[in-house]
Amino acid sequence: MASIVAIVGRPNVGKSTLFNRITGTKGAMVDDTPGVTRDRNYGRAEYAGKEFTVVDTGGFARDDPGAFVEQINEQVRRALSESDAVLMMFDGRAGLTPYDQDLLALVRPLGKPVFYLVNKMDSREMEVHAAEFSRLGAHPLYSVSAEHGLGIAEVLDDLVKALPEEQEEPEAPELIRVAVVGRPNAGKSSLINRILGDERLVVSDVPGTTRDSVDTPFSLGGKNYLLVDTAGIRRKGKVHKRLEKFSVVRALKALERCDVALVLLDAAEGLADQDLHVAGYAQERGCGCVLVANKWDLVDRAEMTTGKFEQDVRDRAKFLSYAPFITVSAKTGLRVRNIFPLVDQVFAQYSSRLDTGPLNRMMADAVGRHEPPISNGRRVKFLYATQAATRPPTFVYFVSDPEGIHFSYQRYLVNSIRKDAGLDKTPIRILFRMRKRRE
Ligand code: GDP
Ligand code: GDP
Repeated sequence: MASIVAIVGRPNVGKSTLFNRITGTKGAMVDDTPGVTRDRNYGRAEYAGKEFTVVDTGGFARDDPGAFVEQINEQVRRALSESDAVLMMFDGRAGLTPYDQDLLALVRPLGKPVFYLVNKMDSREMEVHAAEFSRLGAHPLYSVSAEHGLGIAEVLDDLVKALPEEQEEPEAPELIRVAVVGRPNAGKSSLINRILGDERLVVSDVPGTTRDSVDTPFSLGGKNYLLVDTAGIRRKGKVHKRLEKFSVVRALKALERCDVALVLLDAAEGLADQDLHVAGYAQERGCGCVLVANKWDLVDRAEMTTGKFEQDVRDRAKFLSYAPFITVSAKTGLRVRNIFPLVDQVFAQYSSRLDTGPLNRMMADAVGRHEPPISNGRRVKFLYATQAATRPPTFVYFVSDPEGIHFSYQRYLVNSIRKDAGLDKTPIRILFRMRKRRE
Protein backbone atom coordinates (compact mmCIF):
# COMPACT_ATOMS: atom_id res chain seq x y z
CA MET A 1 0.00 0.00 0.00
CA ALA A 2 1.61 3.24 -1.15
CA SER A 3 1.56 6.36 1.00
CA ILE A 4 -0.65 9.31 0.24
CA VAL A 5 0.75 12.82 0.07
CA ALA A 6 -1.64 15.77 0.02
CA ILE A 7 -0.77 19.12 -1.54
CA VAL A 8 -2.60 22.04 0.08
CA GLY A 9 -2.50 25.76 -0.43
CA ARG A 10 -4.80 28.53 -1.47
CA PRO A 11 -5.85 28.83 -5.11
CA ASN A 12 -3.13 29.89 -7.51
CA VAL A 13 -0.14 29.11 -5.29
CA GLY A 14 1.00 26.53 -7.82
CA LYS A 15 -0.48 23.27 -6.53
CA SER A 16 -1.28 21.79 -9.89
CA THR A 17 2.07 22.88 -11.28
CA LEU A 18 3.78 21.07 -8.43
CA PHE A 19 1.47 18.09 -8.83
CA ASN A 20 2.37 17.79 -12.50
CA ARG A 21 6.03 18.10 -11.75
CA ILE A 22 5.96 15.39 -9.08
CA THR A 23 3.74 12.91 -10.87
CA GLY A 24 5.57 13.55 -14.14
CA THR A 25 8.70 12.06 -12.62
CA LYS A 26 7.29 8.57 -12.79
CA GLY A 27 9.29 6.39 -15.13
CA ALA A 28 7.77 5.31 -18.40
CA MET A 29 6.23 1.88 -18.17
CA VAL A 30 2.60 0.80 -17.80
CA ASP A 31 0.19 -0.65 -20.20
CA ASP A 32 -1.33 0.00 -23.59
CA THR A 33 -2.47 3.37 -22.36
CA PRO A 34 -2.59 6.33 -24.67
CA GLY A 35 -3.08 9.19 -22.23
CA VAL A 36 -5.21 8.55 -19.23
CA THR A 37 -7.53 11.51 -18.68
CA ARG A 38 -5.58 14.61 -17.81
CA ASP A 39 -7.44 16.75 -15.33
CA ARG A 40 -7.37 14.42 -12.39
CA ASN A 41 -6.30 15.65 -9.04
CA TYR A 42 -4.53 12.52 -7.94
CA GLY A 43 -1.68 10.61 -9.47
CA ARG A 44 1.14 8.18 -8.82
CA ALA A 45 4.64 9.33 -8.25
CA GLU A 46 7.91 7.58 -7.71
CA TYR A 47 11.03 9.05 -6.18
CA ALA A 48 14.17 7.36 -4.92
CA GLY A 49 12.55 3.98 -5.35
CA LYS A 50 9.51 4.83 -3.27
CA GLU A 51 6.08 4.97 -4.80
CA PHE A 52 3.42 7.26 -3.44
CA THR A 53 0.17 8.88 -4.44
CA VAL A 54 -0.14 12.63 -4.69
CA VAL A 55 -3.47 14.36 -4.13
CA ASP A 56 -4.00 17.95 -5.18
CA THR A 57 -6.65 19.11 -2.73
CA GLY A 58 -7.29 22.25 -4.77
CA GLY A 59 -9.01 20.29 -7.47
CA PHE A 60 -11.87 19.44 -5.17
CA ALA A 61 -12.78 23.06 -4.78
CA ARG A 62 -12.79 23.63 -8.50
CA ASP A 63 -15.13 20.69 -8.99
CA ASP A 64 -17.76 22.43 -6.94
CA PRO A 65 -17.81 26.13 -7.71
CA GLY A 66 -20.81 26.72 -5.48
CA ALA A 67 -19.11 25.39 -2.39
CA PHE A 68 -18.84 27.50 0.73
CA VAL A 69 -15.57 28.10 2.44
CA GLU A 70 -16.60 25.71 5.21
CA GLN A 71 -17.16 22.94 2.73
CA ILE A 72 -13.89 23.56 1.05
CA ASN A 73 -12.28 23.37 4.41
CA GLU A 74 -14.09 20.14 5.09
CA GLN A 75 -12.77 18.58 1.90
CA VAL A 76 -9.29 19.72 2.65
CA ARG A 77 -9.61 18.51 6.22
CA ARG A 78 -10.62 15.07 5.05
CA ALA A 79 -7.89 14.82 2.48
CA LEU A 80 -5.42 15.91 5.13
CA SER A 81 -6.65 13.52 7.77
CA GLU A 82 -6.41 10.58 5.40
CA SER A 83 -2.98 11.38 4.04
CA ASP A 84 0.39 10.28 5.33
CA ALA A 85 2.26 13.52 4.69
CA VAL A 86 1.43 17.04 3.57
CA LEU A 87 3.04 19.53 1.24
CA MET A 88 1.73 22.96 2.15
CA MET A 89 2.39 25.69 -0.39
CA PHE A 90 2.70 29.45 -0.07
CA ASP A 91 3.07 31.98 -2.85
CA GLY A 92 6.45 33.66 -2.45
CA ARG A 93 5.51 36.44 -4.83
CA ALA A 94 2.11 37.35 -3.41
CA GLY A 95 3.20 36.94 0.18
CA LEU A 96 1.25 35.71 3.14
CA THR A 97 -2.57 35.93 3.22
CA PRO A 98 -5.22 35.18 5.86
CA TYR A 99 -6.22 32.07 3.90
CA ASP A 100 -2.69 30.76 4.34
CA GLN A 101 -3.01 31.30 8.08
CA ASP A 102 -6.32 29.41 8.15
CA LEU A 103 -4.83 26.48 6.33
CA LEU A 104 -1.83 26.53 8.59
CA ALA A 105 -4.15 26.26 11.57
CA LEU A 106 -5.73 23.19 9.93
CA VAL A 107 -2.45 21.54 9.12
CA ARG A 108 -0.46 22.09 12.29
CA PRO A 109 -2.47 20.00 14.74
CA LEU A 110 -2.46 16.97 12.45
CA GLY A 111 0.68 15.53 13.91
CA LYS A 112 1.90 14.23 10.61
CA PRO A 113 4.90 15.25 8.54
CA VAL A 114 4.28 18.62 6.92
CA PHE A 115 6.66 20.27 4.48
CA TYR A 116 6.20 23.98 3.90
CA LEU A 117 6.99 25.22 0.42
CA VAL A 118 7.38 28.85 -0.58
CA ASN A 119 6.72 28.64 -4.28
CA LYS A 120 7.50 30.87 -7.26
CA MET A 121 11.01 31.56 -6.00
CA ASP A 122 12.31 31.49 -9.52
CA SER A 123 15.57 33.25 -8.81
CA ARG A 124 17.98 33.72 -5.95
CA GLU A 125 17.17 37.40 -5.41
CA MET A 126 13.72 36.42 -4.33
CA GLU A 127 14.97 34.68 -1.24
CA VAL A 128 14.41 37.92 0.68
CA HIS A 129 10.69 37.34 0.49
CA ALA A 130 11.14 34.13 2.37
CA ALA A 131 11.74 36.04 5.60
CA GLU A 132 8.04 36.71 6.00
CA PHE A 133 7.32 33.01 5.88
CA SER A 134 10.08 31.97 8.19
CA ARG A 135 8.50 34.16 10.85
CA LEU A 136 5.51 31.82 10.77
CA GLY A 137 7.56 29.22 12.50
CA ALA A 138 6.67 26.73 9.80
CA HIS A 139 9.44 24.15 9.64
CA PRO A 140 10.92 22.80 7.52
CA LEU A 141 10.54 25.61 5.00
CA TYR A 142 11.70 25.19 1.42
CA SER A 143 12.13 27.79 -1.31
CA VAL A 144 10.99 26.25 -4.56
CA SER A 145 9.91 27.01 -8.05
CA ALA A 146 7.39 24.40 -9.12
CA GLU A 147 7.40 25.80 -12.61
CA HIS A 148 11.16 25.63 -13.08
CA GLY A 149 11.76 22.61 -10.90
CA LEU A 150 14.00 24.46 -8.47
CA GLY A 151 14.35 23.06 -4.97
CA ILE A 152 11.93 20.23 -5.65
CA ALA A 153 14.51 17.47 -5.32
CA GLU A 154 15.37 18.64 -1.79
CA VAL A 155 11.71 18.49 -0.82
CA LEU A 156 11.28 15.03 -2.31
CA ASP A 157 14.45 13.74 -0.66
CA ASP A 158 13.08 14.69 2.75
CA LEU A 159 9.52 13.70 1.92
CA VAL A 160 10.27 10.10 0.97
CA LYS A 161 12.33 9.70 4.13
CA ALA A 162 9.32 10.73 6.17
CA LEU A 163 6.87 8.37 4.48
CA PRO A 164 6.01 5.17 6.29
CA GLU A 165 7.61 2.04 4.93
CA GLU A 166 5.33 0.32 2.48
CA GLN A 167 3.46 -2.33 4.32
CA GLU A 168 3.01 -5.69 2.78
CA GLU A 169 -0.50 -6.91 3.33
CA PRO A 170 -0.35 -10.21 5.19
CA GLU A 171 -0.07 -13.13 2.82
CA ALA A 172 -3.46 -14.80 2.44
CA PRO A 173 -3.39 -16.58 -0.89
CA GLU A 174 -6.99 -17.74 -0.89
CA LEU A 175 -8.38 -14.33 -0.08
CA ILE A 176 -9.39 -12.01 -2.89
CA ARG A 177 -9.49 -8.35 -1.91
CA VAL A 178 -12.26 -6.53 -3.71
CA ALA A 179 -12.91 -2.79 -3.64
CA VAL A 180 -16.06 -1.08 -4.84
CA VAL A 181 -15.27 2.34 -6.27
CA GLY A 182 -17.25 4.86 -8.23
CA ARG A 183 -18.59 8.33 -8.08
CA PRO A 184 -21.15 9.36 -5.47
CA ASN A 185 -24.59 7.87 -6.10
CA ALA A 186 -23.38 5.19 -8.49
CA GLY A 187 -24.78 2.69 -6.04
CA LYS A 188 -21.74 1.52 -4.09
CA SER A 189 -23.49 1.09 -0.77
CA SER A 190 -26.51 -0.50 -2.43
CA LEU A 191 -24.30 -3.01 -4.20
CA ILE A 192 -22.30 -3.83 -1.10
CA ASN A 193 -25.43 -4.27 0.96
CA ARG A 194 -26.91 -6.45 -1.73
CA ILE A 195 -23.80 -8.59 -1.81
CA LEU A 196 -23.49 -8.92 1.94
CA GLY A 197 -27.09 -8.75 3.01
CA ASP A 198 -29.84 -9.82 0.71
CA GLU A 199 -27.89 -12.61 -0.79
CA ARG A 200 -27.50 -14.06 2.68
CA LEU A 201 -23.89 -14.80 2.21
CA VAL A 202 -22.10 -16.23 5.16
CA VAL A 203 -19.80 -13.63 6.60
CA SER A 204 -16.89 -15.84 7.33
CA ASP A 205 -14.20 -15.72 9.92
CA VAL A 206 -11.22 -15.47 7.66
CA PRO A 207 -8.00 -15.52 9.66
CA GLY A 208 -5.91 -12.40 9.47
CA THR A 209 -8.72 -10.15 8.41
CA THR A 210 -10.08 -8.92 11.70
CA ARG A 211 -7.16 -6.52 12.11
CA ASP A 212 -8.90 -3.96 9.99
CA SER A 213 -12.49 -3.52 10.96
CA VAL A 214 -13.33 -1.43 7.92
CA ASP A 215 -13.07 -4.53 5.76
CA THR A 216 -15.77 -7.16 5.50
CA PRO A 217 -14.85 -10.76 4.83
CA PHE A 218 -17.37 -13.03 3.21
CA SER A 219 -17.44 -16.24 1.27
CA LEU A 220 -19.26 -17.23 -1.83
CA GLY A 221 -19.12 -20.45 -3.80
CA GLY A 222 -16.43 -21.81 -1.50
CA LYS A 223 -14.14 -18.84 -2.07
CA ASN A 224 -13.11 -16.21 0.43
CA TYR A 225 -13.30 -12.54 -0.38
CA LEU A 226 -12.62 -9.40 1.48
CA LEU A 227 -14.64 -6.32 0.66
CA VAL A 228 -12.16 -3.56 1.32
CA ASP A 229 -13.15 -0.39 3.19
CA THR A 230 -16.82 -1.25 3.29
CA ALA A 231 -17.64 -0.01 6.77
CA GLY A 232 -17.33 3.63 5.75
CA ILE A 233 -19.54 3.15 2.78
CA ARG A 234 -22.16 1.10 4.57
CA ARG A 235 -22.32 3.38 7.58
CA LYS A 236 -23.16 6.35 5.45
CA GLY A 237 -26.45 8.00 6.34
CA LYS A 238 -28.17 11.03 4.93
CA VAL A 239 -26.12 13.42 7.03
CA HIS A 240 -22.88 12.22 5.59
CA LYS A 241 -24.04 12.24 2.02
CA ARG A 242 -22.58 15.64 1.32
CA LEU A 243 -19.23 14.91 2.83
CA GLU A 244 -19.04 11.54 1.18
CA LYS A 245 -18.85 13.32 -2.10
CA PHE A 246 -15.37 14.49 -1.39
CA SER A 247 -13.81 11.31 -0.23
CA VAL A 248 -11.66 10.70 -3.26
CA VAL A 249 -8.87 9.79 -0.92
CA ARG A 250 -10.91 6.96 0.52
CA ALA A 251 -11.40 5.54 -2.96
CA LEU A 252 -7.68 5.82 -3.57
CA LYS A 253 -6.91 3.99 -0.37
CA ALA A 254 -9.35 1.23 -1.24
CA LEU A 255 -7.73 0.88 -4.65
CA GLU A 256 -4.30 0.67 -3.07
CA ARG A 257 -5.41 -2.27 -0.98
CA CYS A 258 -7.45 -4.34 -3.39
CA ASP A 259 -6.67 -7.07 -5.88
CA VAL A 260 -9.71 -6.39 -8.00
CA ALA A 261 -11.70 -3.17 -8.20
CA LEU A 262 -15.33 -3.08 -9.16
CA VAL A 263 -15.53 0.21 -11.01
CA LEU A 264 -19.16 1.11 -10.62
CA LEU A 265 -20.87 3.14 -13.33
CA ASP A 266 -24.34 4.59 -13.25
CA ALA A 267 -26.04 3.26 -16.35
CA ALA A 268 -29.08 5.47 -15.80
CA GLU A 269 -26.95 8.61 -15.84
CA GLY A 270 -24.51 7.50 -18.49
CA LEU A 271 -20.76 7.72 -18.38
CA ALA A 272 -19.31 10.85 -16.72
CA ASP A 273 -15.83 12.31 -16.63
CA GLN A 274 -15.61 11.48 -12.97
CA ASP A 275 -16.10 7.80 -13.84
CA LEU A 276 -13.15 8.01 -16.18
CA HIS A 277 -11.06 9.60 -13.46
CA VAL A 278 -11.80 6.75 -11.10
CA ALA A 279 -11.18 4.22 -13.86
CA GLY A 280 -7.96 6.00 -14.81
CA TYR A 281 -6.68 5.79 -11.31
CA ALA A 282 -7.52 2.10 -11.08
CA GLN A 283 -5.58 1.59 -14.28
CA GLU A 284 -2.60 3.52 -12.99
CA ARG A 285 -2.67 1.67 -9.71
CA GLY A 286 -2.42 -1.56 -11.66
CA CYS A 287 -5.13 -3.54 -9.89
CA GLY A 288 -7.48 -5.88 -11.67
CA CYS A 289 -10.78 -4.27 -12.68
CA VAL A 290 -14.32 -5.17 -13.55
CA LEU A 291 -16.46 -2.46 -15.10
CA VAL A 292 -19.89 -2.74 -13.53
CA ALA A 293 -22.73 -0.71 -15.04
CA ASN A 294 -25.31 -0.43 -12.28
CA LYS A 295 -29.01 0.60 -12.28
CA TRP A 296 -29.67 -1.42 -15.40
CA ASP A 297 -33.29 -1.70 -14.23
CA LEU A 298 -33.71 2.01 -15.03
CA VAL A 299 -32.37 1.77 -18.54
CA ASP A 300 -34.82 2.12 -21.37
CA ARG A 301 -34.19 -1.06 -23.34
CA ALA A 302 -35.68 0.48 -26.46
CA GLU A 303 -32.95 3.11 -26.39
CA MET A 304 -30.01 1.32 -24.90
CA THR A 305 -28.56 -2.15 -25.11
CA THR A 306 -25.77 -3.75 -23.14
CA GLY A 307 -23.69 -3.80 -26.28
CA LYS A 308 -24.21 -0.12 -26.94
CA PHE A 309 -23.39 0.90 -23.41
CA GLU A 310 -20.33 -1.31 -23.35
CA GLN A 311 -19.13 0.19 -26.63
CA ASP A 312 -19.42 3.68 -25.20
CA VAL A 313 -17.43 2.64 -22.14
CA ARG A 314 -14.81 0.88 -24.27
CA ASP A 315 -14.43 3.91 -26.52
CA ARG A 316 -13.90 6.28 -23.65
CA ALA A 317 -11.95 4.06 -21.30
CA LYS A 318 -9.62 2.44 -23.84
CA PHE A 319 -6.97 2.16 -21.18
CA LEU A 320 -9.09 -0.43 -19.37
CA SER A 321 -9.52 -2.71 -22.36
CA TYR A 322 -8.62 -5.67 -20.17
CA ALA A 323 -11.47 -5.08 -17.70
CA PRO A 324 -14.53 -7.31 -18.17
CA PHE A 325 -17.82 -5.46 -18.41
CA ILE A 326 -21.16 -6.37 -16.91
CA THR A 327 -24.53 -4.67 -16.42
CA VAL A 328 -26.31 -5.20 -13.09
CA SER A 329 -28.94 -3.77 -10.81
CA ALA A 330 -28.08 -3.49 -7.15
CA LYS A 331 -31.72 -2.71 -6.53
CA THR A 332 -33.31 -5.79 -8.11
CA GLY A 333 -30.27 -8.03 -7.78
CA LEU A 334 -30.07 -8.55 -11.53
CA ARG A 335 -26.79 -10.32 -12.40
CA VAL A 336 -25.12 -9.27 -9.14
CA ARG A 337 -24.10 -12.91 -8.62
CA ASN A 338 -22.39 -12.94 -11.99
CA ILE A 339 -19.90 -10.33 -10.84
CA PHE A 340 -17.88 -12.78 -8.79
CA PRO A 341 -17.05 -15.30 -11.49
CA LEU A 342 -15.58 -12.32 -13.35
CA VAL A 343 -13.65 -11.29 -10.26
CA ASP A 344 -12.25 -14.82 -10.04
CA GLN A 345 -11.11 -14.81 -13.65
CA VAL A 346 -9.45 -11.45 -13.28
CA PHE A 347 -7.80 -12.47 -10.03
CA ALA A 348 -6.46 -15.70 -11.50
CA GLN A 349 -4.73 -13.79 -14.29
CA TYR A 350 -3.70 -10.99 -11.98
CA SER A 351 -1.79 -13.41 -9.76
CA SER A 352 -0.46 -15.65 -12.49
CA ARG A 353 3.19 -16.47 -12.95
CA LEU A 354 4.81 -17.48 -16.22
CA ASP A 355 7.75 -19.82 -16.25
CA THR A 356 10.97 -18.40 -17.59
CA GLY A 357 11.18 -20.83 -20.50
CA PRO A 358 7.83 -20.08 -22.09
CA LEU A 359 8.19 -16.39 -21.27
CA ASN A 360 11.47 -16.18 -23.15
CA ARG A 361 10.04 -18.08 -26.10
CA MET A 362 7.12 -15.66 -26.23
CA MET A 363 9.46 -12.69 -26.14
CA ALA A 364 11.64 -14.14 -28.89
CA ASP A 365 8.60 -14.96 -31.05
CA ALA A 366 7.16 -11.49 -30.65
CA VAL A 367 10.47 -9.88 -31.50
CA GLY A 368 10.79 -12.22 -34.47
CA ARG A 369 7.37 -11.33 -35.85
CA HIS A 370 7.96 -7.62 -35.63
CA GLU A 371 11.48 -6.23 -35.59
CA PRO A 372 12.49 -3.95 -32.71
CA PRO A 373 13.27 -0.31 -33.45
CA ILE A 374 16.67 1.01 -34.44
CA SER A 375 18.34 3.24 -31.91
CA ASN A 376 21.60 5.11 -32.43
CA GLY A 377 22.07 3.27 -35.68
CA ARG A 378 21.71 -0.20 -34.16
CA ARG A 379 18.73 -2.43 -33.79
CA VAL A 380 17.74 -2.87 -30.14
CA LYS A 381 18.62 -6.39 -29.03
CA PHE A 382 16.36 -8.38 -26.76
CA LEU A 383 18.43 -10.67 -24.54
CA TYR A 384 16.16 -12.38 -22.06
CA ALA A 385 13.04 -11.92 -19.97
CA THR A 386 11.98 -12.66 -16.46
CA GLN A 387 8.85 -12.17 -14.42
CA ALA A 388 9.68 -9.79 -11.60
CA ALA A 389 6.34 -9.76 -9.81
CA THR A 390 2.72 -10.82 -9.81
CA ARG A 391 -0.35 -8.76 -8.92
CA PRO A 392 -0.10 -7.42 -11.53
CA PRO A 393 2.13 -9.61 -13.67
CA THR A 394 5.27 -7.56 -14.17
CA PHE A 395 7.91 -8.62 -16.64
CA VAL A 396 11.42 -7.35 -17.09
CA TYR A 397 12.90 -7.52 -20.56
CA PHE A 398 16.66 -7.12 -20.68
CA VAL A 399 17.62 -5.24 -23.80
CA SER A 400 20.66 -3.52 -25.27
CA ASP A 401 19.08 -0.07 -25.25
CA PRO A 402 15.96 0.56 -23.14
CA GLU A 403 15.74 4.18 -24.32
CA GLY A 404 15.37 3.01 -27.89
CA ILE A 405 12.03 1.28 -27.29
CA HIS A 406 9.18 3.56 -28.10
CA PHE A 407 5.70 3.47 -26.79
CA SER A 408 4.21 1.77 -29.84
CA TYR A 409 6.67 -1.11 -29.65
CA GLN A 410 6.08 -1.47 -25.96
CA ARG A 411 2.37 -1.64 -26.62
CA TYR A 412 2.97 -4.26 -29.29
CA LEU A 413 4.91 -6.39 -26.78
CA VAL A 414 2.21 -6.03 -24.13
CA ASN A 415 -0.46 -7.06 -26.61
CA SER A 416 1.65 -10.01 -27.77
CA ILE A 417 2.10 -11.37 -24.30
CA ARG A 418 -1.58 -10.86 -23.59
CA LYS A 419 -2.40 -13.04 -26.58
CA ASP A 420 0.34 -15.62 -26.19
CA ALA A 421 -0.07 -16.16 -22.47
CA GLY A 422 -3.85 -15.71 -22.37
CA LEU A 423 -3.62 -12.69 -20.08
CA ASP A 424 -6.49 -10.68 -21.51
CA LYS A 425 -8.16 -9.69 -18.25
CA THR A 426 -5.38 -8.24 -16.15
CA PRO A 427 -3.13 -5.21 -16.30
CA ILE A 428 0.39 -6.12 -17.32
CA ARG A 429 3.63 -4.29 -16.93
CA ILE A 430 6.74 -4.62 -18.98
CA LEU A 431 9.89 -2.90 -17.81
CA PHE A 432 12.98 -2.60 -19.92
CA ARG A 433 16.41 -2.89 -18.37
CA MET A 434 19.80 -2.39 -19.88
CA ARG A 435 21.97 -5.45 -20.46
CA LYS A 436 25.14 -5.41 -22.51
CA ARG A 437 25.28 -7.65 -25.55
CA ARG A 438 27.20 -10.79 -24.94
CA GLU A 439 30.58 -10.72 -26.60
P1 GDP B 1 -3.13 26.11 -8.14
O1 GDP B 1 -4.39 26.91 -8.28
O2 GDP B 1 -2.61 26.18 -6.72
O3 GDP B 1 -3.25 24.70 -8.63
O4 GDP B 1 -2.01 26.86 -9.00
P2 GDP B 1 -1.44 26.53 -10.47
O5 GDP B 1 -0.50 25.40 -10.42
O6 GDP B 1 -2.57 26.48 -11.42
O7 GDP B 1 -0.56 27.84 -10.71
C1 GDP B 1 -1.11 29.14 -10.68
C2 GDP B 1 -0.25 30.05 -11.52
O8 GDP B 1 1.06 30.19 -10.94
C3 GDP B 1 -0.03 29.52 -12.92
O9 GDP B 1 -0.09 30.60 -13.81
C4 GDP B 1 1.37 28.95 -12.87
O10 GDP B 1 2.01 29.00 -14.12
C5 GDP B 1 2.05 29.86 -11.87
N1 GDP B 1 3.18 29.20 -11.19
C6 GDP B 1 3.19 27.98 -10.61
N2 GDP B 1 4.42 27.72 -10.11
C7 GDP B 1 5.19 28.78 -10.40
C8 GDP B 1 6.58 29.10 -10.17
O11 GDP B 1 7.35 28.32 -9.61
N3 GDP B 1 7.00 30.30 -10.61
C9 GDP B 1 6.19 31.19 -11.25
N4 GDP B 1 6.70 32.34 -11.64
N5 GDP B 1 4.90 30.91 -11.50
C10 GDP B 1 4.40 29.73 -11.08
P1 GDP C 1 -23.25 5.42 -3.48
O1 GDP C 1 -23.22 6.90 -3.20
O2 GDP C 1 -22.39 5.06 -4.63
O3 GDP C 1 -22.99 4.57 -2.28
O4 GDP C 1 -24.75 5.12 -3.97
P2 GDP C 1 -26.01 4.53 -3.19
O5 GDP C 1 -25.87 3.07 -2.99
O6 GDP C 1 -26.26 5.37 -1.98
O7 GDP C 1 -27.15 4.74 -4.27
C1 GDP C 1 -27.52 6.02 -4.72
C2 GDP C 1 -28.99 6.00 -5.12
O8 GDP C 1 -29.17 5.15 -6.25
C3 GDP C 1 -29.90 5.46 -4.03
O9 GDP C 1 -31.08 6.21 -4.05
C4 GDP C 1 -30.16 4.03 -4.44
O10 GDP C 1 -31.38 3.55 -3.98
C5 GDP C 1 -30.13 4.13 -5.94
N1 GDP C 1 -29.70 2.89 -6.59
C6 GDP C 1 -28.57 2.19 -6.35
N2 GDP C 1 -28.50 1.11 -7.14
C7 GDP C 1 -29.61 1.13 -7.92
C8 GDP C 1 -30.11 0.28 -8.96
O11 GDP C 1 -29.52 -0.73 -9.35
N3 GDP C 1 -31.31 0.64 -9.52
C9 GDP C 1 -31.99 1.73 -9.11
N4 GDP C 1 -33.14 2.00 -9.71
N5 GDP C 1 -31.54 2.55 -8.16
C10 GDP C 1 -30.36 2.26 -7.55
